[in-house]
Amino acid sequence: MTAKSTHKAIEETKERTFKGIGVSPGICIGKAYRVDTGGVEVVKKYQIEDDGLVEEANRFKTAVRKAGDELQALIDSSRNKFNGHTPILETHQVLLKDKMLYRRTLDTIEKEKINAEWALRKVTGILKSMFQELDDPYLRERAVDVEQVSERILRNLVGVDAINISEIDRRVILVAEELSPAETSEINLERIKGFITDRGGMTSHTGIIARTLEIPTVLGMGNITRHIENDDLIIVDGLQGLVIVHPREQTILKYEERGYQYEQFKAEIIRDSFCEAQTVDGIDIKIMGNIELPEEVVTVRDHGGDGIGLYRTEFQYMNRLKAPSEDELFEKYRDVVEVMAGKPVTIRTLDINGDKAMSGNPESTEPNPAMGLRGIRFCLQRPDIFTSQLRAILRAAAYGEVRLLLPMISNCAEIKETRRLLAEAADALKIEGTPFNLDIKIGIMVEVPATVIMADVIAEHVDFFSIGTNDLIQYTLAVDRGNPEVAHLYHPLHPAVLRMLERVTKVAAEKKIEVYMCGEMAGDLVYVPILLGLGLNELSMSPQAIPMVKCFIRTLNLEEAREFLQDILSVHSAGEIRQMVYHRYGDRMARMMAEPPLTQQTRETQSI
Ligand code: PEP
Ligand code: MG
Repeated sequence: MTAKSTHKAIEETKERTFKGIGVSPGICIGKAYRVDTGGVEVVKKYQIEDDGLVEEANRFKTAVRKAGDELQALIDSSRNKFNGHTPILETHQVLLKDKMLYRRTLDTIEKEKINAEWALRKVTGILKSMFQELDDPYLRERAVDVEQVSERILRNLVGVDAINISEIDRRVILVAEELSPAETSEINLERIKGFITDRGGMTSHTGIIARTLEIPTVLGMGNITRHIENDDLIIVDGLQGLVIVHPREQTILKYEERGYQYEQFKAEIIRDSFCEAQTVDGIDIKIMGNIELPEEVVTVRDHGGDGIGLYRTEFQYMNRLKAPSEDELFEKYRDVVEVMAGKPVTIRTLDINGDKAMSGNPESTEPNPAMGLRGIRFCLQRPDIFTSQLRAILRAAAYGEVRLLLPMISNCAEIKETRRLLAEAADALKIEGTPFNLDIKIGIMVEVPATVIMADVIAEHVDFFSIGTNDLIQYTLAVDRGNPEVAHLYHPLHPAVLRMLERVTKVAAEKKIEVYMCGEMAGDLVYVPILLGLGLNELSMSPQAIPMVKCFIRTLNLEEAREFLQDILSVHSAGEIRQMVYHRYGDRMARMMAEPPLTQQTRETQSI
């Protein structure tokens, strides 16, 4: 064997393909950049002599100053960027010089004659437990900020470089065990080509943001971080949920071609997305966009969205010490309403907690956050925070068509109490002479099984239902939506889920109220014929999915979809139902996705 052929053989055997969950389509090829979100692991304790105490205190002060400079640089560089929202960084700046952290650490160095690192760890521990014991759940979560600020100072003390996603200055593919939704939303689009993580899944909020950012992403890879080193060449195939490490020359060429084809195809369907989605038999279906940050409204408009079906407002509350002011919220909401220029904007009230506030916080104080003080439950416990949001929504409603959507509703009392607060807010605005509009549609997210069962009763209190399948499936099947260990059990086509959907749509028709869907199921071609058959005529999804779904709907016949629904409702296995969908619609779907005809297996392994 020649040296050249030996080298080739080694190169060939190095290529490895890993399967995960493709949560955001597209293909990218690039160097890996490992992000270890953990901090300084080992801190040693040692005594300081009396004559060394001033120097030790100065060492601490210098580390705080450097941490402050780092934060300032980050704030400056993230302003004016699409995703350059900096409240978390500003909060950290305040905390750096906070008496409780700064002064107490200096006092501890002096009184206990110990090194700065140890003093800082000790004070941080005390502060964290103080925060965690507070009654106010919002302040309780600020323990995470104390921890992060302390880590930043510590890294400067011990001279370990911080890896900050927004500081990355090369075009790379991020590789991490996990990224929280907040970290994901700090990603710099010009630098990050794609990302892959060990954890997460299709409907985890990190996955949802990845789709919004249009970055090829594969999550739920198990232990990919053990197989990839910094600067390894990798391919991320977000379409098929594959990651190829050390690809061969031939593989690279194949994927370059596929990536190019995908981009061409995307550009083509975006061009058509400004026309309506009308079925072959002439029924118009409204295709709306889901947004997390107000800036994304432009993406919805540019992808041909017929409105905003879900504006997840919680991201404006995350990573900051205090809730945003009413004026700040009002301005954001008004901007969104104005960009949509008369098209409906569905503003969902704060759905904080669950995975959104707790991600990246391993010491969450709620034992079971998904079933804890989440969404409307949190808001009704904090009428001050809730009222300021309701006022902002009522004010924005004076500028266009706004709908109010309430998350995590599980009984009528929650709706009645919200209506009371809303009326109170309107009265106050009227007295103050502030312009507002109370003539808005009020609806609820249908995402708790109890709400499905009680849908006929609850329908009397609302103008519309919006089915949140991400949570409805998780609660119906008792399968954590973000846990890859159980992702194979997360089946939107589970007969129990289909029966739930059937009930909600039937009740809505009987009670003559509108019914929409804004869970991720609405944006996946596999489910679209079934959703049409169920009578849903408004679907809301990640903006990037809009053109493809519109294009697919133009190939469907509503009458046929209704008959097909009856066929699948009599089948009692998710696998069989999926096969039936592929049998009937597989070719049409494959054409939409610019892929070779989909086999059931390729999609099935993507976890849902
Ligand atoms: C849902 O649960 O389907 C939904 C749309 O809400 P979220 O994903 O924000 O929980
Ligand atoms: Mg939900």
